[in-house]
Amino acid sequence: MATTKKDIRALTKEQLREFFEKQGDKAFRGNQVYEWLWQKSAHSFDDMTNVSLETRQMLEENFVINHIKVDTMQRSNDGTVKNAVRLHDGLIVESVLIPTATRTTACVSSQVGCSLDCKFCATARLKRMRNLNPDEIYDQVVAIDNESKLYFNRPLSNIVFMGMGEPLMNYNNVIKAIDKITSEEGLGMSPKRITVSTSGVPKMIKKMADDEVKFNLAVSLHSAIDEVRTSIMPFNETFPLEDLREALEYWYAKTKRKISYEYVVWNGINDSQKDIDAFVKFCKYVPCKVNIIEYNPIDDGEFQQASSEALENYIASLEKNRIVVNVRRSRGKDIDAACGQLANKS
Ligand code: SF4
Repeated sequence: MATTKKDIRALTKEQLREFFEKQGDKAFRGNQVYEWLWQKSAHSFDDMTNVSLETRQMLEENFVINHIKVDTMQRSNDGTVKNAVRLHDGLIVESVLIPTATRTTACVSSQVGCSLDCKFCATARLKRMRNLNPDEIYDQVVAIDNESKLYFNRPLSNIVFMGMGEPLMNYNNVIKAIDKITSEEGLGMSPKRITVSTSGVPKMIKKMADDEVKFNLAVSLHSAIDEVRTSIMPFNETFPLEDLREALEYWYAKTKRKISYEYVVWNGINDSQKDIDAFVKFCKYVPCKVNIIEYNPIDDGEFQQASSEALENYIASLEKNRIVVNVRRSRGKDIDAACGQLANKS
């Protein structure tokens, strides 16, 4: 029978304190339980060993802890780890741990499926089922942090919101999760080590600037020509490049923080000199750096990685214009964990 009990992690610390007061208990009991729920990631009330048995039973009668469960875990030849994570309602999302010599990065999901419909993306082929709750986002990070310690003897160093879903279409929950991740009562991570990657929702980029968020912003651009961008990212019709540019200028004016552009170059789609010139021009609007990402075909259709010559042309033009550019090799290809490949196939 479906439970009607409330997820205790939907409560703020203040609400938990009030709950205990209403039960005739001390408010500080709320702090204790809150610490178990977040800092210690307790999976059950029985884990809360400094809380009396009576109190644990009372909590059990009133609440549930909807923890995620890592359903399957796959390890790539290059060390990349992919988790298929089962949510309390049975739905599945994926998250990835990407190790390098100096970092371990968690790539986490923010929605089940995605609200958007980028043509090159495997996730877009899944229907958007729902937004993830803050605790479901937080739990993905905790699971990967534990795997990082287990397999690489070091805690997680960075987080990117680049898994399944468009994080700015689930803004409130993403912000709540980041608050927990960065808080001393959660994982205590620096916001400078967190990057939210968006396909470019102008209104929400401005809102983030107004909210004075402290994490980094990345934009999956892929083309600086409206017709091309709309053909591969159809929502560009609603949020054209001019609106995106204006929002990014607003972001920079308020935060003084550079933007990262994520950019994939595809054969015959955005690999001409005209595409390169448009991108270089766009990069000059706001201080930025560029990550050119190797593409992983999701089938043998129209999206295929461009030639190395086309990539070299991009890099040369960007560098000539003093724009910092990195080329990111794709990781975890053999387990479908690379960018654009997350589609619950495992
Ligand atoms: S690339 Fe990102 S925003 Fe676009 S469909 Fe895929 S998950 Fe959604």
